[in-house]
Amino acid sequence: MDHFLYKNGSLHAEDVALSDIAAQVGTPFYVYSTATLERHYKLFTEALSPLPHLVCFAIKSLSNIAVLKVLGDLGAGMDVVSGGEYRRAKAAGVPGSRIVFSGVGKTRDEMRLALEGGVRQFNVESEPELRALSEVATSLAVTAPIALRINPDVDAKTHEKIATGKKENKFGIPIDRARAVYAEAARLPGIDVVGIDVHIGSQLTELEPFEQAFAKVAELTETLRGDGHTIRRLDLGGGLGIPYTRSNEAPPLPLDYGAMIKRTVGHLGCEIEIEPGRLISGNAGLLVSSVIYLKQGEGRDFLIVDAAMNDLARPSMYGAHHDIVPVVEPAPATAAQEFDVVGPVCETGDTFARHRPLTPLGEGDLVAFRSAGAYGAVMASEYNTRPLIPEVLVKGDQFAVIRARPSFDEILNRDTIPAWM
Ligand SMILES: *Cc1c(COP(=O)(O)O)cnc(C)c1O
Repeated sequence: MDHFLYKNGSLHAEDVALSDIAAQVGTPFYVYSTATLERHYKLFTEALSPLPHLVCFAIKSLSNIAVLKVLGDLGAGMDVVSGGEYRRAKAAGVPGSRIVFSGVGKTRDEMRLALEGGVRQFNVESEPELRALSEVATSLAVTAPIALRINPDVDAKTHEKIATGKKENKFGIPIDRARAVYAEAARLPGIDVVGIDVHIGSQLTELEPFEQAFAKVAELTETLRGDGHTIRRLDLGGGLGIPYTRSNEAPPLPLDYGAMIKRTVGHLGCEIEIEPGRLISGNAGLLVSSVIYLKQGEGRDFLIVDAAMNDLARPSMYGAHHDIVPVVEPAPATAAQEFDVVGPVCETGDTFARHRPLTPLGEGDLVAFRSAGAYGAVMASEYNTRPLIPEVLVKGDQFAVIRARPSFDEILNRDTIPAWM
């Protein structure tokens, strides 16, 4: 469920007409709903109650500081994968005690930043990383709380680019090697073992791969406790999928996911952490764009819009589907027409949809790409020297620009002509 609905014939974000935002901000832009963000976060906290738990929002899915503050103010933790994301979490007012540091290639500088600024735990993914962390923590005379990210070797049954839990993926420590690496962690100075971490992929549309992975984590918990380790936290990662089409997809609900967590690991007396990104942010955002031209081609009509692959990369990168809807509500029973929806970038890959049935649209009409909150703005680039597009946050009948469109002067001034020229 989200808060983007037609009211009086016009698509709204909560109580704000998207056409009003477009008139003030210009297109294209991203728009997020505070109510949807809050609702999705609460679905997870409710699903995990009464287990002791912390829902850590995966910042990489949507990292605007204003969005982080919406969630942080509700008590959310944050899952960060870089020093930059760590800084964003802090800038949103989230204390280090609620920040989990993930990622396969943390640098010593990033470790130092988090150890000095406070961190709940590092999710460590390899032995060399473990040794580096031990050195950095020792040099600062502090102790680093850690979980080891275990690779459980399960098939997440998702897009190959976002599956992370098979043994051939670069992520985590093979589960067969876990006991040896935990033993090393226990011996190393400056390291405090607090738990186990697992994350098997993104956009999972079934519970079964999670259940397999969590069952392995439960077994490993008992084994490691038998070896004398204190395992008091289980970080079960993120990855729950969302419906990208309004029709046939029905990924599991957070409530069922929570029930499965209780069933598989609830008896262990551990504090549970989860790291959802997409399920919180995905359907909380739209990309709003306007039609530049309607171009009649051979056997197909192209709708050339002012958003492009540099603004929303998912269709060109993963072949992803985004529903596209007109901002002006079509009259009932308007016959659909097929369009190829494309952006202005000089690549055929800059295609959002092929043969997409839409109601008739023409120059100047506004369209909205649904489910664009996650992995949308964060993956944008300035390819073709197209400025990063603004982000807007709505709450009730208010809206605010939470990242402004840069001016062309700002963009051009980032380049420097060497003195010798
Ligand atoms: C990407 C990622 C997540 C979030 O995944 P979603 O599919 O957006 O829920 C969580 N944890 C880690 C370690 C990740 O890499």
